[in-house]
Amino acid sequence: MLERCLGVRRVRQIQRAVRHSTVTFLCLFLTVVVLRGTIGAGKFGTPEQDFNEIRGHLYSRGRRVEPHRVLEEAQPDSESDQSNNYATFDISKILVDEEPEEKPDPNKPYSLGPKISDWDERRAEWLKNNPDFPNFIRPNKPRVLLVTGSSPKPCENPVGDHYLLKSIKNKIDYCRLHGIEVFYNMALLDAEMAGFWAKLPLIRKLLLSHPEIEFLWWMDSDAMFTDMAFEVPWERYKDHNFVMHGWNEMVYDEKNWIGLNTGSFLLRNCQWSLDLLDAWAPMGPKGKIRDEAGKILTRELKGRPVFEADDQSAMVYLLMKGRSTWGDKVYLENAYYLHGYWGILVDRYEEMIENYHPGLGDHRWPLVTHFVGCKPCGKFGDYPVERCLRQMDRAYNFGDNQILQIYGFTHKSLASRRVKRVRNETSNPLEVKDELGLLHPAFKAVKAVDIIIRET
Ligand code: UDP
Ligand code: MN
Repeated sequence: MLERCLGVRRVRQIQRAVRHSTVTFLCLFLTVVVLRGTIGAGKFGTPEQDFNEIRGHLYSRGRRVEPHRVLEEAQPDSESDQSNNYATFDISKILVDEEPEEKPDPNKPYSLGPKISDWDERRAEWLKNNPDFPNFIRPNKPRVLLVTGSSPKPCENPVGDHYLLKSIKNKIDYCRLHGIEVFYNMALLDAEMAGFWAKLPLIRKLLLSHPEIEFLWWMDSDAMFTDMAFEVPWERYKDHNFVMHGWNEMVYDEKNWIGLNTGSFLLRNCQWSLDLLDAWAPMGPKGKIRDEAGKILTRELKGRPVFEADDQSAMVYLLMKGRSTWGDKVYLENAYYLHGYWGILVDRYEEMIENYHPGLGDHRWPLVTHFVGCKPCGKFGDYPVERCLRQMDRAYNFGDNQILQIYGFTHKSLASRRVKRVRNETSNPLEVKDELGLLHPAFKAVKAVDIIIRET
């Protein structure tokens, strides 16, 4: 009948269309079911909820997951907007250099501060009035402040600040184990004393502000502790005020500019030290004074290259010219590495591990490895960058292994950032014996009796 009215071909077309639309509807139905199941309001949702959910989902293009929300809000409108990209941000944009520093009067002699001549008496008085802050924690255990620092600006290369971080982490570890306080300075206290001279005004300020400190330990940012167990033989220095790594003959006889090193030294808090700082400082002010003084130092000292006056050469010069004034109270230490030149140490770490153990502090297991000349925070150093950074990593890991060992780990190798276990976990953690005794080292212990006396 239908075929007769519309013709056979037409009927076939209609039947095919109906079949297709059935398949299409079936597909649509299945799609809705699947969408409801995955992103919709779920089993109990209403069609309206479903619709809103699905619309929301499509609108936010998959960015609905909670932690992404912040990202979504901060997302720049155009792909070319790099304002939230740290990697491409030019840091100099926010480094405001305020108005130029006042030019110092060239006719006025440089001074670190007002003259103080009775510090020993004033400090003794303070210590008497403040018995809760004794300058000795125990007999032969002075209260020590380790002072280090770096420039107020970010490093001049992209990895420098990472190495500064490793270096301060290394110092914090040593100082925690040895009951030493730490001061990290990033402020240039005196614009005239920028660079390696910056430590002088800082040290003076800290000695005067902390009469409770008996010894101040200056340590360069490019020096790292490589013996976590070695305790400084404090008793040895009871009659001295200034301890540096060095050799008497090299300083006083040879006048060699590397006869001592000022990258790691101990300075007692006393009048003598304030006087020494005053005598040390005059070659420091940058510009003409520092440049001219550099010429004198190069002329007078053995092996010194031509460059502006540095604090180390100035110290050699001061001592060799004024041995009778200063020599008695200066201890040039070479029985262990209060400073150790990296060039002669870093290739021997494996040999040290093989034959020796921490706690020796000398050539067998150096207390400090100092990367003299590497300038890891600068643009150019005196040695190939790859060698410096590779060896700084090795020194860091060598020291860090002694820390990790306490907790049952070690670096996979001296070159590796990764660590591995060296003992199994235990359900009896307080029974674990740490081989080096660094978990509760004697040199950090506070006598219980002291506490009892104070509490009663
Ligand atoms: N330093 C600082 N502030 C500065 C620049 C340098 O405190 O603005 C410190 C930093 O700790 C650095 C030390 O001065 O390690 C001496 O410089 P460096 O170690 O580069 O000299 P080197 O040991 O290579 O002679
Ligand atoms: Mn240094």
